[in-house]
Amino acid sequence: MLKTIDFSKHSSIKIGPLADVLLVDDFSSAKDHFLLGHCNNMLIGPQHPPLMMLGKNFDYIRIENDLLCVGAATPGGKLLSFCKKHDIAHFELLPKLPGSLGGMIKMNAGLKEWEIFNYLHSILTQNGELLKEAIPHGYRWTQFEGIVFEVRFEIHKGFSEAQLEIFKKMRDNQPNMPSAGSCFKNPQGDSAGRLIEAAGLKGHRIGNMAFSEMHANFLVNLGGGTFDEAIALIRLAQEKVYEKFGIWLENEVIVVDERYKGEESPLLMKARTL
Ligand SMILES: Cc1cc2nc3c(=O)[nH]c(=O)nc-3n(C[C@H](O)[C@H](O)[C@H](O)COP(=O)(O)OP(=O)(O)OC[C@H]3O[C@@H](n4cnc5c(N)ncnc54)[C@H](O)[C@@H]3O)c2cc1C
Repeated sequence: MLKTIDFSKHSSIKIGPLADVLLVDDFSSAKDHFLLGHCNNMLIGPQHPPLMMLGKNFDYIRIENDLLCVGAATPGGKLLSFCKKHDIAHFELLPKLPGSLGGMIKMNAGLKEWEIFNYLHSILTQNGELLKEAIPHGYRWTQFEGIVFEVRFEIHKGFSEAQLEIFKKMRDNQPNMPSAGSCFKNPQGDSAGRLIEAAGLKGHRIGNMAFSEMHANFLVNLGGGTFDEAIALIRLAQEKVYEKFGIWLENEVIVVDERYKGEESPLLMKARTL
């Protein structure tokens, strides 16, 4: 089944075309399309590949064999409510981490030492169950083939209201404007926000997109911002930071457009050949 989605409304950064998206309601209906989660970490361009997303059948939570089994289309907020109700610990960060469980697993989403992989037991893909130990992963990256249909966590008792409050406060320095979260990954031992600021780009605006005045690593939509404006800012920050510090900022935001291949910059190519 196809669903027409307006990505300028649906995506967290409020950019993107109107597009037909294949809804995947069972294991066999997936195709060789680009898989969307809830589009909180994504910038979809006008020349995107064919798209698909998991349907409602993958929005569920149940406890089975002492594991917390969560459909990959389930929103994090729903899992948080479940954990609160059933006194389950370690998911207190979720209200501030928008997205589906599938998207969170793929990105190994998290904040500081908390990562979604911390209490993961396994994932279920079309190739069967994959235990956490068999999935290479690290800061905001994972390596596995296929679509996550279900995520299974260990269960530890003790939901903590105190933790919930601590996590909420950690996000007070983030802008309350449309964005896709952090634009770049933090380079080892440094912060992308600090580097962008030091390169003079905090608050820098192109058209209706800008690096936030509040937190330079948030690429925000000031209203009516476009894909091309967002890409122009991403490239500018990568090049300026590279010129000044010799560090290439790696995208955390996933760019979905045939014309943009992320890391290809004449400057980076040159650096690699030196
Ligand atoms: C205001 C704001 C604050 C944020 N803060 C943080 C933060 O503190 N820490 C952090 O880590 N992130 C943060 N993010 C980013 C975002 O919350 C996470 O990356 C989240 O995991 C995205 O989930 P999603 O469902 O929206 O995934 P999408 O953005 O739709 O997709 C992300 C990636 O996951 C893949 N994917 C989606 N579903 C599946 C699936 N079922 N199987 C396999 N692959 C899949 C997609 O192909 C894509 O590559 C923030 C975003 C916003 C808007």
